[in-house]
Amino acid sequence: MIVSDLFRYPDYWLHGAERLLHPAVAGAEVGFRQMPSRSDSGTARGWIAACTIAWFAWGAPSVVHATPVFDTVIEHGRVVDGTGTPWFQADVGIRAGRIAAIGSLAHLPARQRIEARGLVVAPGFIDMLGQSELTLLVNPHVPSKLYQGITTEITGEGDSVAPLDERVRATYGERLSRYGIRPDWRRFADYFARLERQGIAINFASYVGATRLREIVVGLADRAATDAELARMRALLRQAMEDGAMGLSSALEYPPAPYASTEELIALAREAARFGGIYATHMRSYEEDIMQALDETFRIAREAQIPVEIWHLEVAGPTMWGRMPEVIAKIEAARAAGLDIMSDLHAYTAWGNEMSAFVPPWAHDGGTTKLIERLNDPATRARIRQEMETRREGWDNEWLAVAGPADILVSSVGHAELRSLQGQSIEAIARARGREPIETLLDILVEDGALAHVAAFGMQERDVVVALRAPWVAICNDSAGTSPQGTLGLEHPHPRAYGTFPRILRRYVRESHELSLEEAIRKFSALPAARMHLADRGVLKAGLAADVVVFDEHEIADRATYAEPNQLSVGMRYVFVNGVPVIADGRETLLLPGRVLRGPGYRPGTARRNPAAGGAAATD
Ligand SMILES: [Zn+2]
Repeated sequence: MIVSDLFRYPDYWLHGAERLLHPAVAGAEVGFRQMPSRSDSGTARGWIAACTIAWFAWGAPSVVHATPVFDTVIEHGRVVDGTGTPWFQADVGIRAGRIAAIGSLAHLPARQRIEARGLVVAPGFIDMLGQSELTLLVNPHVPSKLYQGITTEITGEGDSVAPLDERVRATYGERLSRYGIRPDWRRFADYFARLERQGIAINFASYVGATRLREIVVGLADRAATDAELARMRALLRQAMEDGAMGLSSALEYPPAPYASTEELIALAREAARFGGIYATHMRSYEEDIMQALDETFRIAREAQIPVEIWHLEVAGPTMWGRMPEVIAKIEAARAAGLDIMSDLHAYTAWGNEMSAFVPPWAHDGGTTKLIERLNDPATRARIRQEMETRREGWDNEWLAVAGPADILVSSVGHAELRSLQGQSIEAIARARGREPIETLLDILVEDGALAHVAAFGMQERDVVVALRAPWVAICNDSAGTSPQGTLGLEHPHPRAYGTFPRILRRYVRESHELSLEEAIRKFSALPAARMHLADRGVLKAGLAADVVVFDEHEIADRATYAEPNQLSVGMRYVFVNGVPVIADGRETLLLPGRVLRGPGYRPGTARRNPAAGGAAATD
């Protein structure tokens, strides 16, 4: 932070100073600095004094007026306001974290003016499936997101970050140890408080995941929940909604989630609906059973009377290619019948997920340890292999959804000694090892403790474009925020982690004209804000939160590739989050103005009162 920033963004400074005073803020556990640490300045008061002296020594910022009307005025830009309205030229004035005025503001005093002639000024982008709940604890700046223009992310896909009990936390802790993070939270209230103490660059919201509830209450077994267990899951869900979760989520491909019946999901969704929540889902199938999966989703929407977000809409596998128009028509028929169904996608033709998803669900019964045991048992391994090579019914068989092992890339691995596999295809690794590809994939699962992730090319671009153009489809990264630097830079993510939004602006707006600029921006902002009921974001309008991006529509582009994903997107000049720049003049400011956005069931202070009976926090 440069000293004059303290005066340009007084609200941020006051907010930041409060955080500095909190005893838990020192960044001791993670290796970043949000602002000068206590060891630098002793106390916040000492830091304020130091800044004041420095300010006088350096001289006051040149544009300070006695009574500035605005903190920032973005002048002469092409305003694309998020609603889909054609662009218009205007100045955008920001004050105290909000958009204060849009119009001709040249005559009004401001602390700072930004010349945006020829640049697009738009609402900050909303990532509908952000996956950064853990990486925000490693690097709260998540530059991969900032350089895409993302100012808000929604996350929590099935195995949400909370609640945690001791047992789940132990397995979770293993996954987190590579980041040096200790999961010290139990419920969302604790996790959100930790984020707020630490600071985050972007706004953040989460669903509570049905997978997590089931894991805590039922465990990892392939069986139905009893009535008593369902009651306990509902109590945990209530607690999460009161802590500020946005609704219920499911990820029905990943065990133990597939073991849940539709009735179980309806019961949970009803509970979320009572608090005004939304149901978001990674459906049971995006392959040959997608029509049944849509029917199940519609039934949940109808019987629980809940709005639905279908995550990462896709049709995968050669037998499904060309069938996206049928999927779109089916969702539009449901919408016409009164069901509030929307969706999102990342618009790449490769999906990205856990490599263990190649293995049929029954082999996950009991969790990862059991999965590895089965892969090490020759007879069971042979059965797994046989099903992967032949069986299509009842599960999304990803092995049969790609043309061959050359189309499966190992992205991130969990064990450092396997890092040389990152970015290689299963075919290439198999050739080098002199093994069959399918055996190689199963070997890697064993060697890496089932932590490896893949990018798999199983979609056709025409289907992607058909979905992208549907007016109710927004955008998701479906990848955690990351950075080319530090621990996170050692990973090899799907390029969507860095490139999703700029890639759509480059490829589908600028190059192929599949979308107009205004329609793309609407999908990035007003549409997802409406879906999430974020009434004060997503549109450039006086009074709304000042999440604003300024970019060059001719330059904006993704740089991340499958071979070299750790590359920031280009073309973003300014990104404001709650009125404070996280990118200014194309460079990161390292400020942390993001907020936790809490859902409609939020009841402040419930964490301090005796939590709901049976809650994870109450019992573990
Ligand atoms: Zn998913």
